[in-house]
Amino acid sequence: MKDILKNAGVEGELSGAFCGSWLSCTHGEVNSVSPVNGEVIGTASGAGPKEVETVVERAVEAFSTWRMVPAPKRGEIVRQIGLALRKNKKALGALVSLETGKIRAEGEGEVQEMIDIADFAVGQSRMLYGLGMHSERPGHRMYEQWHPLGPVGVITAFNFPVAVWSWNAMIALIAGDTVIWKPSSKAFLCAAAVTKIAAEVLEQNNCPAGVVNLLIGDRKSVGTPLVKNPKVPLISATGSVAMGRGIAAVVAGRLGRTILELGGNNGIVVTPSADLDLTARAIVFGAVGTAGQRCTTTRRIIVHQDVYDRLKDALIGAYRQVRIGDPLAEETLMGPLIDTGAVVDMMDALNRIESQGGEILYGGKVLSGGIYDTGTYVTPCICRADAQMPVVAEETFAPILYLIPYRDFDEAVSIHNGVPQGLSSAIFTNDLQESETFLSHRGSDCGIANVNIGTSGAEIGGAFGGEKETGGGREAGSDAWKAYMRRQTCTINWSGELPLAQGIEFDI
Ligand code: NAD
Repeated sequence: MKDILKNAGVEGELSGAFCGSWLSCTHGEVNSVSPVNGEVIGTASGAGPKEVETVVERAVEAFSTWRMVPAPKRGEIVRQIGLALRKNKKALGALVSLETGKIRAEGEGEVQEMIDIADFAVGQSRMLYGLGMHSERPGHRMYEQWHPLGPVGVITAFNFPVAVWSWNAMIALIAGDTVIWKPSSKAFLCAAAVTKIAAEVLEQNNCPAGVVNLLIGDRKSVGTPLVKNPKVPLISATGSVAMGRGIAAVVAGRLGRTILELGGNNGIVVTPSADLDLTARAIVFGAVGTAGQRCTTTRRIIVHQDVYDRLKDALIGAYRQVRIGDPLAEETLMGPLIDTGAVVDMMDALNRIESQGGEILYGGKVLSGGIYDTGTYVTPCICRADAQMPVVAEETFAPILYLIPYRDFDEAVSIHNGVPQGLSSAIFTNDLQESETFLSHRGSDCGIANVNIGTSGAEIGGAFGGEKETGGGREAGSDAWKAYMRRQTCTINWSGELPLAQGIEFDI
């Protein structure tokens, strides 16, 4: 454990605020407790409203310099950050695993996502394109251009402690913005390690202090003051729907901008023509991966009644083989939940499933003995449910999978869309009409819709995000960069005349 902290550069007491230098903070202590062994693995002195103010000021100051660096040169610095992350991939991956309980391959996979988005952002730095328009007035030229926006507040959840920051930060940096990161208090060591790596690259390139900033603390001491601050024009927040509602109201109150990436309740429709072997493998990966703690985790299977039993048996057979244990061990497929609070939430949901008429078909037990004595390890669970059960409409952030039988295809789509969240979705079918209907505007209502590939994970090249209670935000690839810039429409009159709009003549 000590080696993991040392290799990632986060041993010893940390300060909770960074803005080119580490500030001394006096707002209590924040501890990082590993779900792997229940031990405190790191401590930071917490930041408070005073540090938030200082950091925001520094980020505003740095913005005035950073925005004047040509975008491709900003891209070159992001390229170097990507290289530094490549060098530190194993060390950071192990830290993600230790701090959040993800298996090592998922920890390293998350760092790979940071590297990939850095590469993407380098190319994007030469493609911040605006459109040219034909003016209706003779001798006039019209076009739009994209300018840097200002400091961007990035609030991240515990379950993707580094990737989500990079999806935002790499794009914000090439866009000419400075970045203020408020990580989850449950995973701040990962954030400190990544901040140190990025800051070193910025320093080597003589960038001003305050381009990349960090604030460690809870919602009250850091989150609220950051979100309220009118000098931060954009807040990109990833977390629960409750968090998004709170933040959206505060930022809207000051007419700021938000990118909201909130909870999901992702479903897969399995039709009679599906390849059940492929389907079962995709479901197990999507439902059990990261111990059911991904925003894109597969939670609901809407399966045709004719193939219900075969799929159920295949899934139970596969669940029995999931090796649960130390996420840093090579053979482990599922690690612990983030903390005992998450286990309590899971058990509470299982009680409600039974009281609302559902049936637990497999798993749902808290493990004990040896490493399991932390109380954070559970067996993943499969339940039979029906779409009307209120618990099915909620996102329980744990490995609970609902099997919901359907009779006809329209009913399946209606069940699929009948939840408040709208992040990721999939259909497994070999019937063209079914797959095309699912992808059409009367099909899936989610931000992500897949055919014969599961709900979990997403490639950085596409815009990532969801509809309805998932918040409507988009980040990472495609044209998501536009949210980090301000659009300006420009008209240049080279005619020597002054034709006024609506044919009005001012005789002066
Ligand atoms: P959470 O909502 O408890 O916390 C997320 C972050 O928001 C933390 O940093 C927290 O301190 C901060 N926060 C909470 N309330 C705040 C407020 N009022 N003002 C400012 N900051 C506030 O979420 P979590 O338990 O860390 O993560 C799990 C949730 O995140 C799940 O719902 C999951 O689906 C969601 N998630 C969504 C995505 C996505 O891209 N859609 C990605 C990852 C996680």
